[in-house]
Amino acid sequence: MDCNKSKRQTAGTCASEGSACTAENTGSEESLDTLLGQKALDDRMRLIRHKIIVLSGKGGVGKSTVAANLAVSLALAGKRVGLLDVDIHGPSIPKMLGLDDAKVQIDNGAILPVEKAGLKVMSIGFLLENRDDAVIWRGPMKMGVIKQFLQDVDWGELDYLIIDSPPGTGDEPLSVCQLVKNADGAVIVTTPQDVATADVRKSITFCRQLNLPVLGVIENMSGFVCPKCGEVTDIFKTGGGESMANEMGVPFLGSIPIDPAVGEACDAGKPFVYHYSRTETAKAFERIIAPMLLLSERIADGSAVKTNKTKEGVVMKIAIPLAEGKLCMHFGHCEQFALMDVDEKAKKITGKQLLAPPAHEPGVLPRWLHEQGANVIIAGGMGSRAQSLFAENGIKVIVGAPGDEPEKVAIAYLDGTLKTGDNVCDH
Ligand code: ADP
Repeated sequence: MDCNKSKRQTAGTCASEGSACTAENTGSEESLDTLLGQKALDDRMRLIRHKIIVLSGKGGVGKSTVAANLAVSLALAGKRVGLLDVDIHGPSIPKMLGLDDAKVQIDNGAILPVEKAGLKVMSIGFLLENRDDAVIWRGPMKMGVIKQFLQDVDWGELDYLIIDSPPGTGDEPLSVCQLVKNADGAVIVTTPQDVATADVRKSITFCRQLNLPVLGVIENMSGFVCPKCGEVTDIFKTGGGESMANEMGVPFLGSIPIDPAVGEACDAGKPFVYHYSRTETAKAFERIIAPMLLLSERIADGSAVKTNKTKEGVVMKIAIPLAEGKLCMHFGHCEQFALMDVDEKAKKITGKQLLAPPAHEPGVLPRWLHEQGANVIIAGGMGSRAQSLFAENGIKVIVGAPGDEPEKVAIAYLDGTLKTGDNVCDH
């Protein structure tokens, strides 16, 4: 990854209206601004238990439709949910949720999300004078708007924040993924026609380069639901999403058919899964959120998670595989794991345990580390299947870390100075 690029992107400080871009600021003033901005963003994000970024290789595959319906499905499952639409070229969430005329309120300098049926919603579309206007932002302004937006929306405490990212693998989704630290992962939306294209594979590679776990792939517009009899016909070859996901070593979350009722619901501003909850298509959405609900239940299950809850909330526990006392490159064959409780704010290690892992078998280590309360693993290298298993267990994976003492690695991670190289055992 190009580090300079990321620095450039987080440096812009545009006003939210997009009118006053101060990207030309330089020097210490700018870096102080950047630091304070990132801190404000981190503070807001800390109140949100699970952050899920919805990505797609290109526009028009139903990414926003999926994001909106996942958010509503999670809210219907009794979770506190926010939906953030940062798709700055086509903010379609307001229309989909019947919030075209919603007005944004500002309180104490923070933007308050609009609430609908228990769901908190914020869209870049709310800030546009004319919702039908094509949005033409200049490069630095785009990044500034995305950043300001992430930073200034006051979500309060949430169980889930679903982020509808701009499509593709360019600078805009890159900004979103870099700014939202500690996201649980990405959900990648594709269609049967696009499975064969490089776009969706690029999205998976993009996540891997950013150490963002891929929670899974969704094949949208997979088969056609007859509006008369409800029968699903495969008008295009379907199922490619699942084989592609298997081939790339990422979970397949499920398929959603082309259902004319989905299009109609979107046009009418009615959340589909809410208004058509008994349909097979709505059930397909329900099945897709099951692993996302599991993320939460696993962490909430005190019997499974030994030590990562205190009265202040969830604390970070970092796992590092060791051989001869130093981080070892092949995590599946390590002698021991260092498990370190850390204070994220003070950037300090508050406790350390050395544990011998159970015998190496697929799936055992992620589950075992989850039971030990780990929520981050820092390793030299790791295969993509193992990365997905860790993601399913709510453990963030960092790969390409150097073979240093575990304390040094953990502190560098907390400081943001950990230098990661290639994933040295991507098999
Ligand atoms: P993206 O965010 O990828 O650009 P959208 O979510 O805006 O795509 O969807 C594009 C269009 O496709 C919208 O009109 C939406 O109603 C329609 N659409 C998306 N998914 C489905 C589906 N499963 N069945 C029917 N129409 C769909």
